Amino acid sequence: MIKIIILGAAAGGGVPQWNCGCANCRDAREGRTELNANQASAAISADGEHWFLVNASPDLRQQIANTPALHPRAGELRHSPIAGVILTNGEIDAITGLLTLREGSPFTLYAHSRVHSILAANSIFNALKPGIVTRETLTLGESFSPASGLDIMPFAAPGKTALFLEDEEESDPGDTIGLKITDLSTGRSVVFLPACAQLTDDVLDLIDGTDAVFFDGTLWRDDELLAQGLGKKTGQRMGHMSMQDVIPTLADMRIGQKFFFHINNSNPAWRTDSEERKKIEAAGWSIPAEGMEITL
Ligand SMILES: [Zn+2]
Repeated sequence: MIKIIILGAAAGGGVPQWNCGCANCRDAREGRTELNANQASAAISADGEHWFLVNASPDLRQQIANTPALHPRAGELRHSPIAGVILTNGEIDAITGLLTLREGSPFTLYAHSRVHSILAANSIFNALKPGIVTRETLTLGESFSPASGLDIMPFAAPGKTALFLEDEEESDPGDTIGLKITDLSTGRSVVFLPACAQLTDDVLDLIDGTDAVFFDGTLWRDDELLAQGLGKKTGQRMGHMSMQDVIPTLADMRIGQKFFFHINNSNPAWRTDSEERKKIEAAGWSIPAEGMEITL
C-alpha cells in the first residue's frame, strides 16, 4: 500500500502570490476561495504511521496544521509522524519548509548531493542539527528504502539548476530529480515529477505502466508569463514543459491516474470553469485538491 496526501499543488508563490495581480491571484484574494492554493508538496506512507514529505514548501507549517495524519501522536509531548523529507530540487519552494521542522524532532533528509550542497552553503539550514536530522545522499538510478516495503528510485529529470543559482553554476543532472515510488508487496507505483523540461525516452519508460503520476503542470502554455505580461521567461527557460505539450505526449501511456502538480498562479487551468480545465479533464488529467488522499 502507498498512501499519498496532497499538501499543496501550486508552484512557487502559491495562489495568490504576494505581489501578483494576475486574474487568478486577484480573484483568489477577492473571495474565490477555490483558487487559493498552497505550494506543492505531498506526504507518502506505506503504513499510515510514518510519513515522508516530497519537498518542504514555504507553506509547510500550515500544511501540517491542515493534515491530521501529520500531527503529533495523542499523549506525547514531542512527536511527529514525519519520518523523512525527500527533496526533488533546491528551489526556494522545495526547501524553505525545512526551517519549519527545526524544533528538535528527528527525521531523515534525502537529497542529491547537488541539493545537499545548497543546504550546506546556507548556514541557516544548520538549524536542522546533525545528530537529530540525518542527511542521506541520493544517487540517480539507485533505489533506496526509507521504510519497510517502500522502494524509491530517484532519477534525473530534464531540467535546470535552481533559479537563484543559475547565474553562478552550470546545471547538472542532479539538480532536478523525479521519484518513482513502488510498494514492493503489491508492485503498485507512483511517479512524482514536479519539474520537467522535456519528456525523454528514459522518463517515458519510467512513467509507462505506473498507477499514478504527479507531473509538472507549471504553465498551460510555454509563453504564458510573457502573454500575460507577468515575466520575461518561457516555461522552457525555467525548466518546465507546458500542460499543452505534456497532454499529447503522455496520451498513449498506460497510466492509472494523471495529476498535474506544481501549477503556477498564472495558469488558467486553476479555474474550474475555464476552457483549459475542460481540456485537461477531457484528456484524463486532474488537479489534485489540497488534502486529497489516494491509496494505491
Ligand atoms: Zn498571479
